[in-house]
Amino acid sequence: MKVKKGDTVLIIAGDDKGRKGKVIKVFPKKNKILVEGINIQKKHVRPRREGEKGQIIEKPGPIDVSNVKVICPKCGKPTKVGYTKVKDKKFRVCKVCNHEFE
Ligand SMILES: [Zn+2]
Repeated sequence: MKVKKGDTVLIIAGDDKGRKGKVIKVFPKKNKILVEGINIQKKHVRPRREGEKGQIIEKPGPIDVSNVKVICPKCGKPTKVGYTKVKDKKFRVCKVCNHEFE
């Protein structure tokens, strides 16, 4: 996948279009990712014991990887990512500034 955990991405489609967030989980087989603060799903949690209050937990829901662009760690611009190999190691390349990153 072109997006990795820890990347900052720009959302380019959907309700959160134009927002940025950090990737907190990737699901390579499904081509989906979780992004901090994006596609928030509210989940009601019932009280476990009598006298306790129920809670609403907000969690990011998975979004399709095609709905985001990686923000280049060097130039800070949203970019398409290419690949290159340096000494058999694969790097991603920013198509804006040609910066290579893991
Ligand atoms: Zn760049």
